[in-house]
Amino acid sequence: MLSEKMQQALNEQVNAELWSAYLYLSMGMQFENAGLPGVANWFKVQFKEEQAHAEIFMNYINQRGGRVELKPIAEVPTEWATPLDAFKDTLVHERKVTAMINNLYAIAEAEHDYATRDRLNWFVSEQVEEEESAQQLIDKFTLIGNDGMGLYMLNNELAARTYVAPSILTAE
Ligand code: MG
Repeated sequence: MLSEKMQQALNEQVNAELWSAYLYLSMGMQFENAGLPGVANWFKVQFKEEQAHAEIFMNYINQRGGRVELKPIAEVPTEWATPLDAFKDTLVHERKVTAMINNLYAIAEAEHDYATRDRLNWFVSEQVEEEESAQQLIDKFTLIGNDGMGLYMLNNELAARTYVAPSILTAE
């Protein structure tokens, strides 16, 4: 059984993951419109990943006999001048999400809720990857600068990203 405090914090995380999904969908639409379908594809895959994160938390709340409460999703930005700007925003956002996961972890530890702590371990590792991939893309877009050929090639590279559902979801 989840404590009221833990349940509320997990529900807030569901909302944050759905907000993340909405943010990356907004970025995806922006770059599709800007003629960069590969960059758009990367963000649309990220949109699906964030939905999966929310689903993992929702499944877990229900598994523990808690109640999922879906709250309104706040507005997201809709304009980025360049992919570099969007990936910089991505990194800033993912660092915030990491801090939220760490906060959930601290609550679980304080409450001796080891089941929740165990589930959060997956997210701790996931956040390392999220921050790393955002940083790598910042590096790549910084490297190409205003080079049109570089942008063309990097756009093609990002077109190859495909969504793979986390095994934590497919195993359930
Ligand atoms: Mg996430």
